[in-house]
Amino acid sequence: MSKFIPLSIPNFEGNEKKYVDEALEQGWVSTGGTYITKLEEEMAKFLHTDNVAACQSGTSALHLSLIEAGVKPGDAVIVPSLTFIAAVNPVKYQFATPIFMDCDDSFCMDPVKFRDFCNEKCEFNEHTLKYRGKVVKAVIVVHVFGNMADMVSIMETAKKYNLKVIEDATEALGTFYTEGILTGKYAGTIGDFGAYSFNGNKIITTGGGGAITANRIEVVDHLRYLSTQAKSDPHHYIHDEVGYNYRMTNLQAALGVAQMEKLPEFIRRKQENYDYYCKLFEGFELGKLSRFREGISSNKWFYSLEIDKGKISASMRRIVTELEERGVQTRAIWGLINEQEPYREEDAYKLQKAPYYADRILNLPSSTQITREEIKYVVEQIKDVLGGLAID
Ligand SMILES: *Cc1c(COP(=O)(O)O)cnc(C)c1O
Repeated sequence: MSKFIPLSIPNFEGNEKKYVDEALEQGWVSTGGTYITKLEEEMAKFLHTDNVAACQSGTSALHLSLIEAGVKPGDAVIVPSLTFIAAVNPVKYQFATPIFMDCDDSFCMDPVKFRDFCNEKCEFNEHTLKYRGKVVKAVIVVHVFGNMADMVSIMETAKKYNLKVIEDATEALGTFYTEGILTGKYAGTIGDFGAYSFNGNKIITTGGGGAITANRIEVVDHLRYLSTQAKSDPHHYIHDEVGYNYRMTNLQAALGVAQMEKLPEFIRRKQENYDYYCKLFEGFELGKLSRFREGISSNKWFYSLEIDKGKISASMRRIVTELEERGVQTRAIWGLINEQEPYREEDAYKLQKAPYYADRILNLPSSTQITREEIKYVVEQIKDVLGGLAID
């Protein structure tokens, strides 16, 4: 079979080549140049926020957030257990300890368990939350697959316990609230910090890259300063803090500016294709398309199917392999982070839904250039493969 429908590939149908050529001609290829500033301005405008700093990856954006939040060796940080491991690794870079939380049906952090954990398992004295003697400084909330975590509730708990909120919006650029007290607010602009990623599989890409925003202009300026080796003086080698080489390059930013021009179009296509998948899966008994939260406009970055494990006992690995043989690339959702080798010893609080979903969510081809014909083919193959694996 020559047909191959990939899970998620980048889309360069705009001004990418033109802008990268321009950057090359100007000779500005490294961490200086006008495209970096332009990308930051375009993002700030799009997100209705005051200041954005472009950096090297989503991971570096998260690391900088933790540093700025004051997370130090021996502190604790509350994190999700069902997500990509890049959301949690920076906690270890700071020699801090992650505490793993469960998800709700949006696959994002369960706000009730988060609140209960702070209420019941921690002590709160003199504006400081402590868990087993460790100071809990922050919570990292991931907006999984372009969904929105329940930020109203999470912010309330975080405020009560004086926790910094770091939003991992690497998958949710363009997702915003359409109802409630946060109406008009974009994922990543609600908490203290918001991290974005432009890795090759995200809704827009710069090859590798990221961005970071914060709730105060001066904080973003400071993050930018940290990302360029903390140069306290532009001409003399004066450094008042430990800095990092986390700044985005102008070559990447040239790609990014072209991608930002296409972002509204990409989101529109993702939403349309999602609706089409929904229609084709209507009435299917062996699985259902995962929903996005009510009261938000989601970028619908990644689609997923919840397989009915009461009717299908085959492993996710087997399902993925059989679909691959038919030219359809799918992927099982992540394994739980607290079960990965570097994290086995860490505490996890009442995990129920995370292991449940880890065993039955299948990600579907979600590229912006996928055609209706291809979606139809994908759905036919999934129905056929799952039908063949069903328990009679
Ligand atoms: C992609 C991703 C990251 C990391 O972004 P990079 O740019 O690859 O470093 C972090 N968290 C989540 C949830 C992601 O999906």
